[in-house]
Amino acid sequence: MLQDVLDDVRSDTSGATADYIPELARADPAPLALAAVGPRGRVFTVGDDHVEFTIQSMSKPFVLALALRELGRERVLRSVGVEPSGEPFNAISLEAGTGRAANPLVNAGAIATTSLIAGTDVEERTGRIVGVLSQFAGRSLWVDEAVYASESESGHRNRALAHLMRSYGSMQGSVDLAVESYFRQCSVLVTVRDLAVMAGTLAFGGVNPTTGERVVSERIARDVVSIMSSCGMYDFSGEWLLRVGLPAKSGVSGGILAVAPSQYGVGVFSPRLDSHGNSVRGSGVLERLSEDFGMHLLEPHESIAEPGISVERTEDGVTVLLGGELGFAGAERVLSVLGEVVGALPDGATITVDARDVARLHPAALTAIRDVLGGDAGRIRLLE
Ligand code: GLN
Repeated sequence: MLQDVLDDVRSDTSGATADYIPELARADPAPLALAAVGPRGRVFTVGDDHVEFTIQSMSKPFVLALALRELGRERVLRSVGVEPSGEPFNAISLEAGTGRAANPLVNAGAIATTSLIAGTDVEERTGRIVGVLSQFAGRSLWVDEAVYASESESGHRNRALAHLMRSYGSMQGSVDLAVESYFRQCSVLVTVRDLAVMAGTLAFGGVNPTTGERVVSERIARDVVSIMSSCGMYDFSGEWLLRVGLPAKSGVSGGILAVAPSQYGVGVFSPRLDSHGNSVRGSGVLERLSEDFGMHLLEPHESIAEPGISVERTEDGVTVLLGGELGFAGAERVLSVLGEVVGALPDGATITVDARDVARLHPAALTAIRDVLGGDAGRIRLLE
């Protein structure tokens, strides 16, 4: 099925490779690849999955995750906003009054975010950054020195952005340290498989599905995915949410990584870019995947409102066994089943509600059930 999706977009050769970084302009435009990782860590890849390319802006969500892990949300928000900019990724524009960049996924905001990472020199800071990118990917990654040199030589616009933020005070410390670390983070080599696993780590609440390692907290993963959903595709983010509905991040090398929360991490690669700097065929692949595989973020799902419920007879009454995910909306269903069970039982019979096997228990659901059962405390026992 994944191969079919690739074949569908293969003939579209519109767009062009990025030309403002000389080393990227030389890239072969032909490769096309797709990878996806599911909840149990199984990775599927099709197409040119062996090709390595630089991570570019797809590093930004993960450096943001690192900044959130090191400094917390409030500190990060003092340096950078979280509003979609509606502008190109390299726009020279900062928030009036504060001088903050619009969000951490455009260049200015990403440089400001990188400047927050601990480290007194480029090597130390980059070490931390490559370290976290490697944790997300589940293998040791490294920098492509030729792309780094090319970016550093041609990166005047990024340097200008950093100087502007430094002059407003929205960025502190050394401009050189910030931009050179940023250029190195953009020059880390990855494959589509790496992109899928990195996206998967965000999709599965901060735990790398292939290594089982917790890289960031569930809350940080959710924060990052939230910002990706509103800002990840630059000035195409709104239409992307409508058409594809997967929080995503693109890079000028032609990669896109996308997060289907609790379902899949996806990586795609095809170097020709559209006018927003997003991969043409990569976007096509993700649009197809979202449509054909039901992955749109706002697609309705039954499971949270329909927990697993089974009723078993015991010697002195019944046991109501709960499983799956028990959300607040699911509590209503549990209570209505309990109502039927209670009505059908003889006086004196006891009811045990066993919630010990619920995979994901939302506290508000349990509180609601406990409150209602409280009135029947003598007959109904809750195991949690
Ligand atoms: N390194 C690139 C830059 O700073 C990243 C931009 C991108 O991937 N959109 O211009």
